[in-house]
Amino acid sequence: MGGVGEENKSRAPDHVVATTETKNKTKQNLSLSLSLSLWSLEPLQIISTPSHLFFTRSFSSLSLSLPSLAPTRMAEATEYLKLFVAETSWYNEIVLGSIVPGEAWRRLPHFFQSWLRNYLGGTLVYLLSGFLWCLVIYYWKRNVYVPKDAIPTNHAMYLQIMVAMKAMPWYSALPSISEYMIESGWTRSFATIGEVGWPMYFVYLAVYLVLVEFGIYWMHRELHDIKPLYKWLHATHHIYNKQNTLSPFAGLAFHPLDGILQAVPHVLALFIVPCHFTTHVAALFCEAVWTANIHDCIHGKVWPVMGAGYHTIHHTTYRHNYGHYTVWMDWMFGTLRDPEEDDHPKKS
Ligand SMILES: [Zn+2]
Ligand SMILES: [Zn+2]
Repeated sequence: MGGVGEENKSRAPDHVVATTETKNKTKQNLSLSLSLSLWSLEPLQIISTPSHLFFTRSFSSLSLSLPSLAPTRMAEATEYLKLFVAETSWYNEIVLGSIVPGEAWRRLPHFFQSWLRNYLGGTLVYLLSGFLWCLVIYYWKRNVYVPKDAIPTNHAMYLQIMVAMKAMPWYSALPSISEYMIESGWTRSFATIGEVGWPMYFVYLAVYLVLVEFGIYWMHRELHDIKPLYKWLHATHHIYNKQNTLSPFAGLAFHPLDGILQAVPHVLALFIVPCHFTTHVAALFCEAVWTANIHDCIHGKVWPVMGAGYHTIHHTTYRHNYGHYTVWMDWMFGTLRDPEEDDHPKKS
């Protein structure tokens, strides 16, 4: 194996550097990934550190097909991918190191360590944000945001928690697979903002978020329009169809496959636009908090944010407000229904 990267602070997982065979496979994947990635990146100078090798002024200097260059390039590319592995290993260390007793988790393959971290982290974020949120809006600020007769029963919230808990092991597979693909060099993700610079970072982030808005809108809409999908998957979430049955805990109360499908645009976007890895992880984290927020039935009235006021209408009409963070897609595709207009219908 030539000892490449043996001193790296994080041990590379088996799928990055394991056997000659997998290395060759990775080589092919990387060639594809690199050639796909490069055209869209800023023409930057060649930077001497291996981790920045991807970004170079001319394509010819990075023709991975040249046999004389390939071995060096591949070693450096493998080194670059270790940056992602180091980051996910660090997340694993923080979460699993502080939650899981003992050291047994360290013997799990890297992929399963990441899955366990996503599972435990996701469960904690879901339960903590849900409990705190409910404490504030139903008890501490009772009657301020939610009328007393619209507070869901403890039993309704318990059922939502049960549905979410059953689905959580499956949900956790999505970020774990996404990380695996990033660590394997199959996506266009980059490890540090310095590689592209702040202006391009924001451009890529904007494109990423637009793709996510578009993807989630259409995924959600198809989950309604394709009847078998609605019946077998999405209906599980729509049993909460009145204000006093919705709560922040309904945010992750989906059929497992439904929840995964609605998050898939985050992963697909990685193959289309270069995305900063940490930002992608943060975006998935934000989903867990956002989905709790849009199920609390409190209309935030912050245009163009598609908050709970809009999403409550979605749960009562089934035909409007499929969107995600903003009203943009519903407005564009003709399915927007404004809670303000429902409360104060225009006189005709
Ligand atoms: Zn729906
Ligand atoms: Zn919902």
